[in-house]
Amino acid sequence: MSVVTRFAPSPTGSLHLGSARTALFNWLFARHHKGTFLLRIEDTDRKRSTEASIKAIFEGLQWLDLDWDQDVVFQCSRAALHAAAAHRLVEEGKAYYCYATLEELENMRAEAKAKGLPPKYNGFWRDRSPQLAPSGVPPVIRLKVPQQGETLINDLVQGSVTVSNTQLDDMVLLRSDGTPTYMLSVVVDDHEADVTHVIRGGDHLTNTFRQLQLYEALGWKAPQFAHIPLIHGSDGAKLSKRHGAVSVNSYRDLGYLQEAICNCLLRLGWGHGDDEIITREQAIAWFDIDHVGQAPARFEFARLDHLNAHYMRTLSDASLLERLIPFLTKPISVPLSDTHRTRLLKGLSGLKRRAKTLVELAENALPYLINAPIPYSLEALNVLCVSENNALIKAVLPLLTTVEWTHAALETCLRTFASDRSIGFGKVAQPLRWALTGCRVSPSIFEVLDTLGRTESVARLKDACQTGEHHG
Ligand code: GLU
Repeated sequence: MSVVTRFAPSPTGSLHLGSARTALFNWLFARHHKGTFLLRIEDTDRKRSTEASIKAIFEGLQWLDLDWDQDVVFQCSRAALHAAAAHRLVEEGKAYYCYATLEELENMRAEAKAKGLPPKYNGFWRDRSPQLAPSGVPPVIRLKVPQQGETLINDLVQGSVTVSNTQLDDMVLLRSDGTPTYMLSVVVDDHEADVTHVIRGGDHLTNTFRQLQLYEALGWKAPQFAHIPLIHGSDGAKLSKRHGAVSVNSYRDLGYLQEAICNCLLRLGWGHGDDEIITREQAIAWFDIDHVGQAPARFEFARLDHLNAHYMRTLSDASLLERLIPFLTKPISVPLSDTHRTRLLKGLSGLKRRAKTLVELAENALPYLINAPIPYSLEALNVLCVSENNALIKAVLPLLTTVEWTHAALETCLRTFASDRSIGFGKVAQPLRWALTGCRVSPSIFEVLDTLGRTESVARLKDACQTGEHHG
């Protein structure tokens, strides 16, 4: 039988890292087995579901390159089918109408609590004739769950987990307004879609007991379940806003590449030996449930930074440039002029070795994306107005009008200049760096010159001299 997995988010907020990992695992499992990966938006909670959240889910999945098969299913549109399943169970005597009022339910819970028992529904209407129903109380439909024995989950990650049936009450399937509960909708939808494997967060384990009872009552074969461990922050507490950004889209905006996020999420709970860097192709080839661990996984920002730096370095300069463009903001005009595009492409190989995110890369690329005269900060002006620095730049200028414009020739020229004067190379490089980039740090000065080209470099240095003199 072909594998069918699904990702079934409730659109009640952003797509957070934990959900994205669930989506990734389901996607990989389906792709590994050449099966089907479905997307179902569980929008049955009308009050909390929002269009913005649905949009964020689509955007997040598309950005992570997790494509789904078939049309998206919106759970709400299937409410009639869910209700029909509940009514069938009533007809078969496996479910019943319950007319308990809110007040009665509260009293029931309070009584159970007073006796030190779990706050359960006491089954009052389980075997009572509906003819005794009070007038004006719209009923809910409850499942008649077994009162003895145990319910067993053979979980692919957690192993065998059982609960005594005395712990579980007759759950509501259909609310008094006729809307289905999550437990009912999810079982009907998974069954209808022939889902074979439900891979989801460990926090759903207790729901699975109830869902298994429902499969049993409906006479349907249950899918296999794999409950993956929750994600914790580096301090060992459950990952939350306190640890930093938790929504996937905010990582995109912080300048992380989808490759790095996917690789990072993949390693949260699943491993392949000591492999840290795992490409999409390798992940598809290797992914299995057997190597999902039971212990909570820790999300480490340092690891994500490391992975991001790696993927930025390994992307071709042309692809990296495309990813970088949305991060280039004012005063740079997008679309880039041909000069700036060419210059940036040339400079990228050096820049990408120094940045951890696209945001950092964009900041560092700024000196390549402006033209002389460039703006100098007060800090830069304070360096440029020192008379030795000014004299040094003046002395370098004529050399730069004649030197062959290659990285190697520029290096020889400037190193010779420093040693002829018996000064350390840093003393030459630093004022030049301020003059050429307006910044304290940059790629090597030869690389900067090489990237800017002769005309722009000379123009900047001339302007720096004049500005320095003026300021001094
Ligand atoms: N809609 C549920 C959630 O977002 C997931 C349901 C499921 O995977 O069964 O938590």
